[in-house]
Amino acid sequence: MHSLEQTDPEIFNIINEEQRRQFDHLELIASENYVSKAVLEAQGSIMTNKYAEGYVGKRYYGGCQFIDKAEQLAINRLKKLFNVKFANVQPHSGSQANMATYRALIDKGDIILGMSLDQGGHLTHGHHLSFSGQDYKIYSYGVNKDSETIDYDEVRRMALEVKPKLIVAGASAYPRIIEFKRFREIADEVGAYLMVDMAHIAGLVATNLHPNPCIYADVVTSTTHKTLRGPRGGIILTNNEEIAKKIDKAVFPGIQGGPLMHVISAKAVAFKEALDPSFAIYQKQVVSNAKTLANEFIKLGYHVISGGTDNHLLLLDIKSKWNITGKDAENILDSINITVNKNTIPFDKEKPFLASGIRIGTPALTTRGMKEKEMIEIAQIINQALNNHKNQEILSSLKNKVIELCNKYPL
Ligand SMILES: *Cc1c(COP(=O)(O)O)cnc(C)c1O
Repeated sequence: MHSLEQTDPEIFNIINEEQRRQFDHLELIASENYVSKAVLEAQGSIMTNKYAEGYVGKRYYGGCQFIDKAEQLAINRLKKLFNVKFANVQPHSGSQANMATYRALIDKGDIILGMSLDQGGHLTHGHHLSFSGQDYKIYSYGVNKDSETIDYDEVRRMALEVKPKLIVAGASAYPRIIEFKRFREIADEVGAYLMVDMAHIAGLVATNLHPNPCIYADVVTSTTHKTLRGPRGGIILTNNEEIAKKIDKAVFPGIQGGPLMHVISAKAVAFKEALDPSFAIYQKQVVSNAKTLANEFIKLGYHVISGGTDNHLLLLDIKSKWNITGKDAENILDSINITVNKNTIPFDKEKPFLASGIRIGTPALTTRGMKEKEMIEIAQIINQALNNHKNQEILSSLKNKVIELCNKYPL
C-alpha cells in the first residue's frame, strides 16, 4: 500500500503545514488541546474499518468481538473516571450528546431553560440557529450584571415562572465554579430534569478540581477533546438505569448510525491517561496557569470578567481597555502567532461577530509544559501587542519572542 505522501501529496503537505502551525503558535483557545501520540495512534488505526451498529453484545453486524472489547473498556474506564453507573461513549460530538439527551428526556416543543450563548452558554443550549432552539421552546438565563457570575436566585425565579421540563447547566465561556447543587434544588422545586453539559471542564471534574455534576444531574454530557485531552467526540453519563436505556436508544438508532470505533478506541486511551495520577498534576497546573494569567491582566489594568477565574479559562474585556473589538484583538494576536478567539462579554454592546472580548484558555499551553513564569511573559506580550498594534517593528519582535517560547516547549 502507498503512503499518504505518495497517494495524496496535497493533503500530506496540508497536514504538515498544520503541524507546523500547531508547533509555532501559542494556542490559547480554551476548547483546544494537544492529544498524546497514543491517542493519535488509536484514532488513526484500522478500527475505522468496522461497522458496529448497536451496543456491546447486541450488534447488527458480525465480527464485532474485538470492537466489543474496545467499547466495553472505554465504558468501564469512563465510569470509573467520573464515578458514575452508566455511560454511552458513542456520540460523535458534544452537540450529538446534547441532541440525544434532549430527545431521551423531553418531547419536541417542551420548554428548556439554559444559559444564553452571549453570556457563556453553548449553541446547543437553545440558540435559534441550532436544532435546540428550533425543536424546543427556549428560555435563557445569564449572569448578574455586577458580579458577572450566575445569579442562582434569578435562575430560580425564571424556573418558577416558565416551568421548564429540562434545565441545562454548563457553559463554553464561564470562568467560575458552577454550583450544581443549587441547580438540582431549583430543578426539584419545579419538577424539571437537570442536564449538566461539562464539555469544557470535564478534565477538572475528573481530577476533583471542580464539583462532579454526576452526583446532582439526571444526565451529564461532555466532549472528550477539551480539558479531557482525548479525541474529538462526545459522551453521556447517568446514574439512572431507566434514563440510561432511553439515552442508548436516542443515540442509536435515534440520531446516529454506526459508531466511530477508531474514535471510541482513542477515547478509551484518553480515559486511561486521565485516570493516571499525572493527569491530576496536569489539571492543577492548567488552573494555576489560568489564575496567573488572570492576575497578570488585572495588574495590567484589564477588566477580567467576574474578577478572575476558578477554572481553565478567562474572559478579557478588550474594548474597555483599548477601544478595539475582540475581533481586532484576535487578528492582531494572530499576526504574532498567538491564537485566541473573540468572545462576547456579558451585556456586550458589540455584535457577536465583532465582540468586545477575547476568551483565553490554558489547557493546550500547559500540555506543552508551560508554567506560571511563561504565563506572565505571555500576558505581557499580549498587552504589548495590543498597545502597539500599529507598530510593525514591535509586532515582529514580539512574534520572535513567541516563536522562541514555542521552540523552548516543543510538542
Ligand atoms: C464545545 C461544547 C459543545 C459541543 O461540542 P462539539 O463537539 O463541538 O459539538 C457542547 N457544549 C458545550 C458547553 C461546549 O463547550
